[in-house]
Amino acid sequence: MFVVPGQHSASFPLEYKVFQLWGIPVFIHAFLVLYFLYELTQRLQGVKKTSEGLPDYSQAGFAFVVVSLGFVVLFATVLVHELGHCAGAKVVGGSAQRILLWPLGGLALCQAAGGARGDLLVALAGPATHIPQYFAWKALHQSALDAAADSVIHKSIFVPLCASAMQLQITLAVFNLLVPVHPLDCSRVITSLLRLCSVPSPMDSKIMLSLSIITIALLAASMFNALHVWWLPFGYHPMNVVLLVWLGIQTYQLFNAICEHPSHNNRQPLMRHQSRNASDC
Ligand SMILES: [Zn+2]
Repeated sequence: MFVVPGQHSASFPLEYKVFQLWGIPVFIHAFLVLYFLYELTQRLQGVKKTSEGLPDYSQAGFAFVVVSLGFVVLFATVLVHELGHCAGAKVVGGSAQRILLWPLGGLALCQAAGGARGDLLVALAGPATHIPQYFAWKALHQSALDAAADSVIHKSIFVPLCASAMQLQITLAVFNLLVPVHPLDCSRVITSLLRLCSVPSPMDSKIMLSLSIITIALLAASMFNALHVWWLPFGYHPMNVVLLVWLGIQTYQLFNAICEHPSHNNRQPLMRHQSRNASDC
């Protein structure tokens, strides 16, 4: 998703600039590395031991390659998503300051322009990147399938990798567009549409707050098997717990922002108050 930077560029502790793309600095958070190590450890725990009681190093190497490639795909997918927001911001006459990738996804700090229409375009530009990404991975998946008959590497690594990458595009597009929780992309789409429909401020933010609370409750119920949401299988995973807590904090901050500015007549969404904390999956 994208957030509006404050007067100064928001910076997060433990983030490091890794490269620059089209003039946009890309940062990685240290927790992303920890998340990789956690996933690798989980995968290695499933590696069988040899009759001598030693780890099966070939299986361990395979697990390392699979987890590493999975992270590269995730990294690239989220990066393209955030670049989509940045490109959208520039198309509407705004600017893009930087991109942060962290365990909960990515964050594009960019300044939209053009009012509600501009916000809407920038919010949709990120999820829209999953369409070409999906078809690119589908073509690679077909190529891997064609080569799988003569190649164990294609059969055991690239075919499942491409298949999971295709699923990732669908998951991220659905999560960002159909989960109405502040500050996911869906929330910006909704608030932009409300503003285009002349819903007065802060009513648009109050509607978004209500939707966020209801959706977080549904996601929590789904996570603990109290409810089955067929269109959004949200099961238990440590990162899902962290994500839910983080969304709860963001929603609480939105509540505080509404309380502090009950007569806020700025037509920009209250994301302005979240510019140091928002993220995206
Ligand atoms: Zn996004």
